[in-house]
Amino acid sequence: MSTNSELFDEARSVIPGGVDSPVRAYGNVGGVPRFIERASGPWLWDAEGTRYLDLVCTWGPALLGHSRPEVVSAVQSAAARGLSFGAPTATETELAEEVRRRVPPAERVRFVSTGTEATMTAIRLARGATGRDLIIKFAGNYHGHSDGLLAAAGSGVATAGLPGSAGVPAGVTASTLVLPYNDEAALRAAFQARGDEIAGVIVEASAANMGVVPPRPGFNAAIRRITAEHGALMIVDEVLTGFRCGPSGFWGFQQDRQESYRPDLFTFGKVVGGGMPLAALGGRAEVMDLLSPTGPVYQAGTLSGNPLATIAGLTTLQLADDDVYERLDERSEAWRGALAEALEAAGVPFVINNASNLFSVFMGEAPARDGVADYEQAQAQSAEAYTAFFHAMLDAGVNLPPSCFEAWFLSDAHDEEAFEVFSDALPGACEAAARA
Ligand code: PMP
Repeated sequence: MSTNSELFDEARSVIPGGVDSPVRAYGNVGGVPRFIERASGPWLWDAEGTRYLDLVCTWGPALLGHSRPEVVSAVQSAAARGLSFGAPTATETELAEEVRRRVPPAERVRFVSTGTEATMTAIRLARGATGRDLIIKFAGNYHGHSDGLLAAAGSGVATAGLPGSAGVPAGVTASTLVLPYNDEAALRAAFQARGDEIAGVIVEASAANMGVVPPRPGFNAAIRRITAEHGALMIVDEVLTGFRCGPSGFWGFQQDRQESYRPDLFTFGKVVGGGMPLAALGGRAEVMDLLSPTGPVYQAGTLSGNPLATIAGLTTLQLADDDVYERLDERSEAWRGALAEALEAAGVPFVINNASNLFSVFMGEAPARDGVADYEQAQAQSAEAYTAFFHAMLDAGVNLPPSCFEAWFLSDAHDEEAFEVFSDALPGACEAAARA
């Protein structure tokens, strides 16, 4: 049996950094990433046979927990009928209808394989629909790794402390305006200055890639008003929050709380594919119909709408009824409560932010006590305290995101036993954070 350390050395000799997505390499927290062999419910087992309670949930998709039997068996029977056809299937339509049922402004839906493709296509559509070039994004929001969206991006870009990425042409960056998140005045000023050049604004429904930073009340609705006044599109990125922060995503969560706005385009990913490579964009029919083959905005994919991925997504959404979301909300509150109590007991200064059931913690003196509202405040947290906390939790068998700029994910499978493992691990980890 190989150890994680041996597997990591071997991987690094053939894969850059030993990983296929940077945050997995533990660059921010140090140490050896766990090589995973299998997962079930809230648990992961690594190559050494050690079991971990998982609060990463494959970065969001595992809403029902890992390897939910109904999802696995739907994928197995689809696999027996063929892995990919490169031709339309009825399941794609069924899944598109389920997305539209939950999020009615997604009048048309197109499936792609990754969130990156979904946002990249949404941007192209906004430009195609308006004939303008500029895109506004917000600092600390992450929308995947397409060239134009890597400026001041959250997630792995924030973890690595990078302003952007090498290899992105200056001309492309010049077409992206980056504004502070949650700052309506800055948005108004940008539109006043260059409104007739701006194709659209892309925003995470709730920011969750600089840690969880929910929109201030009225911020998302203000984006809608301002974009509409200037003939620009509003793109709401629900890749992370969609079908997780509620049955209709964070957009639906806000609708239920009287913050009503109708974006032109949405992007979805993660939960919509039930753990398989699938993402989507959806929106107003007249905009979506600009896509090939009905319109002039080109987009395509050999594996788009893959039959294994669409059945995994459809089965997941069919199982994710209102009770699942209610349980997640209750669970999130209880887990946040236990975390807050343990941090207080250990004397660690902290802020816990949440957007419905999504949450994350910011440790240290610097983060604003009334909640972290933008990237600058998120960056003021103590990464050292989080690193100490992370490793103590890992040693106690709890797998947290290996970066303080990521959301924590619960699932419907995070039961009492899982909560006990979590709460038993907390006191020691909080003391480690206090010493850091
Ligand atoms: N948008 C958001 C809000 C995301 O959180 C992510 C990934 N974490 C993406 C886009 C990119 O998705 P993918 O990693 O599937 O390309």
